[in-house]
Amino acid sequence: MVAPRHDPVIALQALRRDIEAACRDAGRPSQSVTLVAVSKTYGVEAVELVIAAGQRAFGENRVQEARAKWPALRERHQDLELHLIGALQSNKAREALTLFDAIHSVDRPSLCVALAKEIQKQGQAPLLLVQVNTGAEPQKAGVLPEHADAFIAACRKSYDLEISGLMCIPPADEAPAPHFALTAKIAARNGLKLLSMGMSADFATAIRFGATHVRLGTAIFGSRTSAAPLSPD
Ligand SMILES: *Cc1c(COP(=O)(O)O)cnc(C)c1O
Repeated sequence: MVAPRHDPVIALQALRRDIEAACRDAGRPSQSVTLVAVSKTYGVEAVELVIAAGQRAFGENRVQEARAKWPALRERHQDLELHLIGALQSNKAREALTLFDAIHSVDRPSLCVALAKEIQKQGQAPLLLVQVNTGAEPQKAGVLPEHADAFIAACRKSYDLEISGLMCIPPADEAPAPHFALTAKIAARNGLKLLSMGMSADFATAIRFGATHVRLGTAIFGSRTSAAPLSPD
């Protein structure tokens, strides 16, 4: 028996309905949540299908892959927004600013210095979100929750960066709700409006805790067949 082919457009439409339902349940307007379609590892053809179905916000986790894929797509579609959701090396800050409208992974002073310098030079800034390592996982990027307030203050005062929100990726083996709640609490007490949280398995929960950006990849595009681990930039 042959498995039915995954159709990204049908999947996208179903997810939009799910997001609307989650918003309704949370008593929030559906426009308050942006679906970021995470297109890492997927080809331009799949992305084009999803763009044709009306999707505008996309996420990539590597500068190198975004560079290869997105300039041509952007030329064809002027109203897209591209989000960097993966780690950013300081020496790629310049290129990241030319490629991305939002960076969800601000998490250390050296990166702040590089971003501030390039923002000054280029005269425009992407939306910046601080990544919080809510589970204090050693393998994960992000500032520790107990350092978040001081880091956000330093971004503003020492580096003159405007921070718009927070991003978190809860530990895979824990209930996500406490992590979303903690992220939302840190955002609220720092006056931050954007919350990038919630993936395929937990976006409805994230919306309940105030997510403004949910990041969905495989749920839209299907499972990643290119199982080979991607080398870092
Ligand atoms: C890949 C990725 C996602 C999307 O994950 P899927 O399993 O493809 O839905 C969300 N957030 C981050 C930070 C990612 O790297």
